[in-house]
Amino acid sequence: MKKPEINMETAVIHKGYKSSLHHDSLATPLYQTSTFAFESAEEGENRFAGNCEGNIYSRLGNPTVRVLEERMAEIEYGEGALAFGSGMAAVSAVLIHLTKAGDHVLCSRGIYGCTFGLLEMMEEKYGITHNLVSMTTEQEIEQALRPETVCIYVETPINPTMEIVNLEAVVSVAKKHGLRVVVDNTFSSPYLQNPIQLGADFVLHSATKYLNGHGDVVGGILVGKDGAEMQKLRMTVQKDVGGIMSPFDAWLLLRGLKTLHVRMDRHISNAKTVLAFLKQEPLVKKIYYPFDENHPQVEIAKRQMRDGGGLISFEIEGGKKEAQAFMNALSLVKIAVSLGDAETLIQHPASMTHAVVPEPSREAMGITESLMRLSVGLEHTDDLISDLTKAFEAVKPKLQEA
Ligand SMILES: *Cc1c(COP(=O)(O)O)cnc(C)c1O
Repeated sequence: MKKPEINMETAVIHKGYKSSLHHDSLATPLYQTSTFAFESAEEGENRFAGNCEGNIYSRLGNPTVRVLEERMAEIEYGEGALAFGSGMAAVSAVLIHLTKAGDHVLCSRGIYGCTFGLLEMMEEKYGITHNLVSMTTEQEIEQALRPETVCIYVETPINPTMEIVNLEAVVSVAKKHGLRVVVDNTFSSPYLQNPIQLGADFVLHSATKYLNGHGDVVGGILVGKDGAEMQKLRMTVQKDVGGIMSPFDAWLLLRGLKTLHVRMDRHISNAKTVLAFLKQEPLVKKIYYPFDENHPQVEIAKRQMRDGGGLISFEIEGGKKEAQAFMNALSLVKIAVSLGDAETLIQHPASMTHAVVPEPSREAMGITESLMRLSVGLEHTDDLISDLTKAFEAVKPKLQEA
C-alpha cells in the first residue's frame, strides 16, 4: 500500500500532471495519437528495451491516459493503476492475471452480472471454478475455501440489496491462506471506501459510474497495491488482450474526476433526503441503504465506508405491475441502468440488471418483483420528491383495484 502524498480532493485535480511539460497548458492535453515517433532507430531500440523513458504505442501507454492512471493510483492507495475500455475489461484483466486452469475463485454472494458471466465462461473453457458465499464473518469465508482457491473477489455494497461484505474479515482470511483479494469498488467510489488501505491487493472500478459521473463514457480502472506487479500486468494482459482506454475517454474522465468529491457530497446528501421521504411513504415496504440504522450490517458499513453513498433500493406494495406503473409515472427521474450520473436514474433489477438470474436465486438474494434501484442524482431534492410523490399517487388506485 502506498500512502497518498496529497489529499484526495487535491489529487483528483493535480496529481500526475505538470503544465510546464505540456506547453503550459492548464488542462491536460488530449494526445489523440496511436503511435509516437522516435528521434532515431537507437532511441526506438532503447524504448523497446526499457532502457529509457518514453512512449511507444498507445496500447502500451498514452500520456493523457497516464495522468488518469496516476491520479487513480494516488486516491486508491495503490502503487500503480491501469485504465481499460470498460469496467468489464478491468475485471477480466485482473481475473486472467490471477488465475490459471484448475484454480478456484471465491466470490461474494452477489457480483455484477457480467462478472458472473465471465466466471461461468472461464469455468466452461478453462476449468476455473467459482462459488458465491455470504461474507459477514471469517468463519463463513474459511468454510468456503478450497485447496485450489487463489483469490477472493468481492463487491461491497452488493447490488442491488446493499448487503455489506466484511472487508476486514476477508483480508484476515486471505492473509492466513496466502490468497489475493480483489474488490470491485464501483458502488462506493474512492471517496467512500479504499479497500487497498484495508488490506486488499487490487481495487477496480467501472469508471462509467461515479468516477466519470456524467454518463458519457464507458471505462474501467484497475489499481494495484504493488507497483512492480502492475507494471507486469501492463506489459502482459493489458498489452496482449488489449482492452485499453482511448485517450479521448481518459480526457473526459479527467474532467469528470476533478469534481468527484463535490459530486459525491451532493449525491449523499440528496440520497439521505430521498431516503427520509421514502421512509415515511406508506407504500414503501422495504428500504436498502448502507447507513440506514435498520440495515442489518450497518455497523460493518460504518467501519469500512465513510458514508452511505447515492444508491437506494426499495420495495413497494404490490408486484411487478405496480413497480412498472410507478416507474412509468416518473418524468424527471429517468428509467435507465447505470448509476452515479448527474441525472437520477431508476431501474427494475428483476426485469433488467438481474433478469438473467433464475427466479429462485433472485428471490433468495432479496430481489423481488417490486424492488427498484434508485441512483440519486444531483437535481434539487424538492423536484425529485415531487416527481416521486406523483408516481406513488399513480400507483395507489392500482393497488385498490387489486
Ligand atoms: C457497471 C459495473 C461494472 C461493469 O462496468 P462497465 O463499465 O459497464 O463495463 C462492474 N461492476 C459494477 C459494480 C458495475 O456497476
